Amino acid sequence: MKNRYSTLFIQTPCYELMDDRLEPPLGLLYLATWLNRHGHEARVLDISSVPPHCWEQIIPQADVYGFSTYSTSFHRTLDILTLVKRINPSAVTVAGGPHATALPEGVKKHFDYVVMGEGEQAMLHLMESLEKGEEPPPILHGELVPNLDDIPFPDYSLVDVESYHRVVDGSSSLSVLSSRGCPYRCVFCNSIVLGRTGRMRFRSAENVWEEIHRLKTDLGVTSFRFQDDNFTLNRPRLREMTRLFEREEIRYRCFGRVDRCSREVTDLLFRGGCRHIAFGIESGSDAILRGMQKDQTTDDIRRGIFNAKASGLAVRVYLMVGFPGETWETVQSTVDLMLECLPDEFSVYPLIPYPGTPIYQQPEKFGITDINPDFSQYFQVRRGRESGYVFRTDSLDEEKIASMRQYVIEQLEPAITWAGDSKLNR
Ligand code: SF4
Repeated sequence: MKNRYSTLFIQTPCYELMDDRLEPPLGLLYLATWLNRHGHEARVLDISSVPPHCWEQIIPQADVYGFSTYSTSFHRTLDILTLVKRINPSAVTVAGGPHATALPEGVKKHFDYVVMGEGEQAMLHLMESLEKGEEPPPILHGELVPNLDDIPFPDYSLVDVESYHRVVDGSSSLSVLSSRGCPYRCVFCNSIVLGRTGRMRFRSAENVWEEIHRLKTDLGVTSFRFQDDNFTLNRPRLREMTRLFEREEIRYRCFGRVDRCSREVTDLLFRGGCRHIAFGIESGSDAILRGMQKDQTTDDIRRGIFNAKASGLAVRVYLMVGFPGETWETVQSTVDLMLECLPDEFSVYPLIPYPGTPIYQQPEKFGITDINPDFSQYFQVRRGRESGYVFRTDSLDEEKIASMRQYVIEQLEPAITWAGDSKLNR
């Protein structure tokens, strides 16, 4: 006879953020919905914004506790782990997410199981094995679901949708993920740690439209934020999505790459309801961009921002200071380029060598001499506009990178809005 296990996925708070309850934990919702659809019993508990002294009152009993782990909040995930082991000493504990994928052996010391990479297939395999009384290996490699259209839409009844604050074009919004992976290999990027071995996969335009249509019909949501790393990579699909979105009269925002935003693309975005696009610009120095393996040039940046603005999109840029090789001259190039292009909003953060990235794995190759091992300091931007400064090279230290960042803020803020102050797009 099979045992039946109930699973609770817990979202770890990140109090240091300006607002850690912006949107429901999409990855955990995908996992719980997937397990439920396959006949298991899974719930999601998002304790973001809940103070630690209240955790015990709201964390229920479960047979399996699952966590998506991030380097910055890993210490807090361990606090929750201690608590759930007190609530149910015989519970099975599972860690997935970017931190567990990057450092599986270290994370394994604390959890019964570690899931590396995409979670759906691995969690299903784990639950089936546990329920049959088998002993799965402690580190599971998540196989990819080949066709993303086979993954059910996230079930928002598992969370209190009204408790989130994400705003797109001035209206409450929900996030949608229309593709997984990124074909680029920027050496600092932590968002591809999970999908490093995976290929780029897209949901079909019809499948994305159907989710949007259902969210609009069932929950009355008309504003969306696409969480894809690069929403515009697949141009035929974008044309088809635009045709389908036009009849829904929605508003949305997305992330893009400047070199994948021709005028045709930015016009399509606007026609389909997009009003805001965010670009990872990083630097105004071609030499620094090459060092990052960003595969974009300053001319791409000029063209991409120009096209987006000409089509009517608000443009947000993310800038980075302190990449190895950065000098005051390259910082000035970044400032000059942004004052020339005049995006609508900006944010600037220091390089953070997140576990799993090439920068973290081979720091010496980039001239990094010291890395602070305290992951709780690995913040790009936190409350009060503060950042974490966690590495040194022969010519850059924490103080110098902080001064560079402050200089960029002082130079740009008179002309461009600090992204965290945006009222229309939070
Ligand atoms: S920074 Fe953007 S383009 Fe580069 S690897 Fe990451 S997601 Fe892809």
